[in-house]
Amino acid sequence: MQTHDIRNRFLTYFENNGHTRVPSSSLILDDPNLLFVNAGMVQFKPFFLGEEPPAYPRATSVQKCVRTGDIDEVGKTTRHNTFFQMAGNFSFGDYFKAGAITHAWELITKSRSDGGYGFDPERLWATVYHDDDEGFQLWRELSGLPEERIQRRGAEDNYWDMGVPGPGGPCSEIYYDRGPEHGRDGGPEADEDRYLEIWNLVFMQEIRGEVSPKKGGPVLGELPNKNIDTGMGIERVALLLQGADNVYETDLVRPVITRAEEMSGRRYGRDHTDDVRFRVIADHARSGVMLIGDGVTPGNDGRGYVLRRLLRRIVRSVRLLGVNEPVLGEFASVVRDTMAESYPELATEFARIDSVVRTEEEAFLQTLTTGSKIFDLAAGETKSSGGSVLAGDKAFQLHDTYGFPIDLTLEMAAEQGLKVDEEGFRRLMAEQRQRAKDDAAQRKTGHSDGAAYRSILDSHGVTDFLGYSDLATESR
Ligand code: ATP
Ligand code: MG
Ligand code: MG
Ligand code: MG
Repeated sequence: MQTHDIRNRFLTYFENNGHTRVPSSSLILDDPNLLFVNAGMVQFKPFFLGEEPPAYPRATSVQKCVRTGDIDEVGKTTRHNTFFQMAGNFSFGDYFKAGAITHAWELITKSRSDGGYGFDPERLWATVYHDDDEGFQLWRELSGLPEERIQRRGAEDNYWDMGVPGPGGPCSEIYYDRGPEHGRDGGPEADEDRYLEIWNLVFMQEIRGEVSPKKGGPVLGELPNKNIDTGMGIERVALLLQGADNVYETDLVRPVITRAEEMSGRRYGRDHTDDVRFRVIADHARSGVMLIGDGVTPGNDGRGYVLRRLLRRIVRSVRLLGVNEPVLGEFASVVRDTMAESYPELATEFARIDSVVRTEEEAFLQTLTTGSKIFDLAAGETKSSGGSVLAGDKAFQLHDTYGFPIDLTLEMAAEQGLKVDEEGFRRLMAEQRQRAKDDAAQRKTGHSDGAAYRSILDSHGVTDFLGYSDLATESR
């Protein structure tokens, strides 16, 4: 079943059950606590917090989400994308636990010819919060799941709140058992690779105080209107319904891998290290394009920096697969072709997206060519002198002279089994900042001897260092 179909079935099912279909919000919302929208409920926060009367009692959406916290998992686990689509149904003081469980169970077990996903009920598991007896009982009665396949879990996994005093509540998750070839017996508590989490149902029923129940704090009282907030991962359902091994091999992500195979002449599925790179490329190409589509541009801090980091990781991964030509424009068009059916703005905005990725790639390739050589020399010296830690001043030089971001240095060092003296790096950064401040103060008073040099630098730019051009054997 194609991802677009999975998405449409969800919306249609809930619409047929009295939910208002609400479009995804942008990935960027005006919320100082949130870099990117990371769940379906975000756009409905004012309803949940009681700041606005709900515009409808029930809603359904498929929300674009970006989770930067999952970036290091990408390509390594079977289930984490940086960009993914979260399908959700929401009740604002309308139905509660029984309704949420009934709907979720019906949609996933209903036959495919009847508009459902047709999952085998024998393979499904549910979890509830450890003291949620009501939830446990409802699962028994409404789904017929045997007790052994309903696990109780602690606050870490099964309590939800917004991270601030306000609404909270237990949650209940649905898992699919992929079979013994994917890991150990024992349910989600034992192995989250074998038992794949597909859907989280949040029962928003109480008010938490300063300290969350996650940290042992008390529940202050019951919410007058109890709410439901759920999130089902579309890519994870696609993985299962397409018989894929992981989310990167599903229909909307895999085409980028295919394009990278064509460019590099290497095949996916042959070598573990290459495969992780292929998956990172495919995942980041998608999140990068989706972010630019919503107006983010590469920059040195905040959202822009996340985007920059995603795009740079693609470029670097591709080079490690042996491709030296610019690639981002190509990948962006593959993403457009797969995603525009659900997000037509990618097609209408494509000229802008294309120009953003090309400009960023050009600038980065410049940085990369020079910086990688310096890095390789430094790493080589560190190793040949028997060390395992790259000196802080090397990391600083890479950053300061060659514009090499520290996370890139960390990543490249890790690939070579090296650590980086981050503390030393930070100290040098702080010293430099201080110098810049002193400098500025001096310039204000007009006593700077360096001002003349500064103006030369400003008009001519930093001189490119080309001394190592001929020494490189592997270009990154
Ligand atoms: P996991 O434990 O696997 O990291 P989660 O508990 O953090 O997932 P939730 O916050 O409960 O996820 O989000 C609701 C649903 O969204 C999940 O059940 C899953 O299907 C999907 N989901 C969450 N994170 C990702 C991701 N990084 N990539 C793809 N789908 C995701
Ligand atoms: Mg997670
Ligand atoms: Mg989880
Ligand atoms: Mg979860």
